[in-house]
Amino acid sequence: MNVNEIARDRVRILLGMARVIVNSEPVLSKRYVELARRVAMRHRIKLGNKLFCKKCGVVFVLGDTLAVRISGKTRVFACLGCGAARKVSAGRSGFE
Ligand SMILES: [Zn+2]
Repeated sequence: MNVNEIARDRVRILLGMARVIVNSEPVLSKRYVELARRVAMRHRIKLGNKLFCKKCGVVFVLGDTLAVRISGKTRVFACLGCGAARKVSAGRSGFE
């Protein structure tokens, strides 16, 4: 197991924990997201843009912190924490 695999594992664990406590401990959840982003940045791990809000740092849980609307051929991912919205073409891969 090399350093990158360890970092990838740590990011996965941190985002998983952030998802579990997003409703009960929102501040701690955001801290976990911040740590995961920092680890990912240091080890150049791509996180994509559907795991957490880039603006306020809340982890995305469909229905709890993320709303997806479909208008025509685009999907609108809206953060329920800060209201930031992002449009994604419906043909591309979605929420994961
Ligand atoms: Zn947000």
